[in-house]
Amino acid sequence: MSQPRIVRVPIVPFGVVNCHLVISEQGCVLVDTGVPGSHRKIERALKAEGLGLQDIRLIVVTHAHMDHAGSAARVRQLSGAPIVAHEGDLPYYQRRKPMTFCETGWVSRLFFRTGVIVKPYEAFTPDILLTDGQALDLAPYGIAGRARPTPGHTAGSVSLELDSGDALVGDLVASGVLLGGLMHTQHARRPPFEDDPATVALQLQQLVAGGMQTFHLGHGGPLPAKEVMRHAGWLGRQRAGRMYQGAVACGCESVGAGGAGGAHG
Ligand SMILES: [Zn+2]
Ligand SMILES: [Zn+2]
Repeated sequence: MSQPRIVRVPIVPFGVVNCHLVISEQGCVLVDTGVPGSHRKIERALKAEGLGLQDIRLIVVTHAHMDHAGSAARVRQLSGAPIVAHEGDLPYYQRRKPMTFCETGWVSRLFFRTGVIVKPYEAFTPDILLTDGQALDLAPYGIAGRARPTPGHTAGSVSLELDSGDALVGDLVASGVLLGGLMHTQHARRPPFEDDPATVALQLQQLVAGGMQTFHLGHGGPLPAKEVMRHAGWLGRQRAGRMYQGAVACGCESVGAGGAGGAHG
């Protein structure tokens, strides 16, 4: 199998929100789908590679926050590709439960005030549902590597481990000032929300121990393994932040009452 290329798809410029294409001669896998309405940006990135939406063979959704899962239903509809995700976030994908958010600092509070992250997205049920300890071999989709559960950022977080030493980890770690890659892009930091820092630290350490050298992120990045390890060492000593619930945090009762509370991100 040929060495894959990792193509960053800018959903918000400067690495503020990324999704990624993993492309080999044998196939193309989309990792995350951006906020609702991102399908055109994904299509544009594919076009630059001489590909179209129909060339996507698998859609990996790393977790249920809206900046990652927001366009999953639409991209599946347009591409015909199956979605793989972890069962831990299933109630949020299906909008059966309001999502909770644990803040990691003042940026988190800022995000809540904007109301952006609690915007609902189109509900969906993944075609392939991973359970804990279960990995999906990506070879049938043309990529040497696997997708496996790495809970911690949310209960249902998933990462890709490629044989090339590239890891695509969603929000297990972020980089840059505020959110993304405007400044200090080589400096790892916590994303605005994170359920369980100690578990995330362990996941990052395990990924490095498993041979991962380059980490591709939902916000900022990429980061080398050495910086990820520095961050993980510090993160393991942090505590989970104050928890908010989607519908409550946005201050909009109609969102919760309307049943859209689960789809927040
Ligand atoms: Zn997230
Ligand atoms: Zn995110």
